Amino acid sequence: MTLTLLLATNNPHKVEEFRSIFLPYDVILQTPAELGLVNDVNENGNTYFENARLKAQAYWQEGQNMVLADDSGLEVNALEGAPGIHSHRFLPDPNATSRDRCLYLLERLKSSPRPWRAAFHCEVVLLTRQGTIFTSHGVCTGQIIPEFRGENGFGYDPIFLVDGTNHTMAELDPATKNQLSHRGKAVSGMIAQLGLPLREV
Ligand code: IMP
Repeated sequence: MTLTLLLATNNPHKVEEFRSIFLPYDVILQTPAELGLVNDVNENGNTYFENARLKAQAYWQEGQNMVLADDSGLEVNALEGAPGIHSHRFLPDPNATSRDRCLYLLERLKSSPRPWRAAFHCEVVLLTRQGTIFTSHGVCTGQIIPEFRGENGFGYDPIFLVDGTNHTMAELDPATKNQLSHRGKAVSGMIAQLGLPLREV
């Protein structure tokens, strides 16, 4: 039976990544925008898990479709794990762009010796129609580099060199990013837990 999942995000980059990761599976993904749902979730949890659960709960309605949410961030060793769960709000200015946040991160790192080791983290939370929680975590290790490379992806991708490749996340084609990324690994773990069936061709 085809499963319908409501994605608890309006981030078009994340939606695109989720669609690509779920493509081989017999799943229909819906977005809040498609359903006319508007929700300003206050992400005041202390962990990726708590924030992902808050997002999922904001869109969950008993007996309606399952909801899938993620919360993610970049942890930099030289900054003792910052910005972490605050990655999106690393710069308090609500108008700050991803490039501004990358430049701010590089500014904060410039007095620390390289390599600037770092890891992306992602927690995905799925709430079933009955409200049961499934969760899965993914990590992608690498280092921050002091230059912008690549046009793909979003956020800190252009300054994150992925371990085992000579490429930043923004230089990887989308399929490769989804194989190696924190989000790709977290979702794959979730798919394995749920035992999702492949789409028939
Ligand atoms: P949130 O998960 O929506 O709270 O966003 C976390 C923030 O972490 C994003 O706004 C990005 O700045 C950063 N981030 C999360 N995942 C990625 C990624 O795959 N690439 C680059 N930056 C990311």
